[in-house]
Amino acid sequence: MADRVEPPRKPMGPSTLSVHGGEPRPKPANSLATPIVQTATFTFANTQELKDHFDGKIDRVEYGRYGNPTQKIAEAKLTALEGAGDCLLFSSGMAAMTTALFAMLSRGTHIVVTDDSYRRTRQFLNQTLHRYGIEVSTVPAGDYEALEDAIRPTTRVLLSESPTNPYNRVLDLERFAAIGRKHRVKTVIDATFATPYNVRPLEWGVDLVMHSATKYLGGHNDLLAGAVLGSREIVDAVRGLQGITGAIVDPFAAYLLIRGIKTFALRMERQNTNAQALAEFLAGHPRIAAVHYPGLATHREHDVAKRQMRGFGGVVSFEVRGDLDAAAHVVDACTIPHLAVSLGGVESLIEQPAIMSFYELTTEERLEIGIKDNLIRYSVGIEDADDLIADLAQALDRTF
Ligand SMILES: *Cc1c(COP(=O)(O)O)cnc(C)c1O
Repeated sequence: MADRVEPPRKPMGPSTLSVHGGEPRPKPANSLATPIVQTATFTFANTQELKDHFDGKIDRVEYGRYGNPTQKIAEAKLTALEGAGDCLLFSSGMAAMTTALFAMLSRGTHIVVTDDSYRRTRQFLNQTLHRYGIEVSTVPAGDYEALEDAIRPTTRVLLSESPTNPYNRVLDLERFAAIGRKHRVKTVIDATFATPYNVRPLEWGVDLVMHSATKYLGGHNDLLAGAVLGSREIVDAVRGLQGITGAIVDPFAAYLLIRGIKTFALRMERQNTNAQALAEFLAGHPRIAAVHYPGLATHREHDVAKRQMRGFGGVVSFEVRGDLDAAAHVVDACTIPHLAVSLGGVESLIEQPAIMSFYELTTEERLEIGIKDNLIRYSVGIEDADDLIADLAQALDRTF
């Protein structure tokens, strides 16, 4: 045994892993599809089996809040795609985010977050965590000196999205992770916009990756789920808290996620090229004031994005040359994308952050956190790029 040498094996690509990753062979009843194990609890043959389970001598499930076989296969698939040690699924992306942060923080500790981020994450940090005596510092995305300066003896976590929502800022993950390691602070990346197809933050040294699987991973706008991925040790700590707080994924949602991921790599490839085409069209349009897409050479982190990403994602944010109403008119004049919150599915979605996620704020309050009235966020689906471009072109023509 000792001198047996394993032949080197090329790691499998994202399409193969999307289709086959994490799936046992054979499955129960020789089913090709992963069965939905729709049960709340799991039976034990006798007291001895129960004792063996609690003593860790056998590997099996016990109760739905601690795991379900369908969930475990979905987790194994994501583990393979992300190149992680372990994965834990949740009922939503926010359940993943909040449970992970509650597991890593306690009263008197401190977290540093970059400034462009999902609205509910901002609220959780600045309102909820604050109530539990956890302090939060916000630093500009891309300012690594400010990030390092913000670290205190009580800091436990550095958190950022990459790319960020809605401005598509891209973090230098290697640099971010190195700052965390230097100060013995855990680094967490919300990689919902990137997905493991475009970037695998763990490979750049990040400790924990979080996804809203509602978006690209599910990919069909028909499920809510969230995931955290990292080493066994760190994911286990989060799992312990999830067993108490209970934001678990439903077996049916786990099944839909497995099914959605089958086409994940194909969809991402298409969404990357569609978004690039749309971004290039917008960048050359006289009615557009700015385009925020990491695939454009004019994007301020284009070089970083090129170095660490396979593709630049399916979200294009842009500013029209006009006010709140002009942007709303463009949104309303589009005929292919649906007007809806969310992103990442096969259907294109369009929204104006000022009138969607940030509606309850005044223009001044929005500007303070960088949300401009004329900003539009376009989540590009898998339709034909020339149809999406023609549709947007007529919407702009009808507005101006
Ligand atoms: C949607 C989203 C979330 C929240 O995920 P849900 O599944 O909606 O709870 C978190 N972060 C980012 C970047 C998102 O886009």
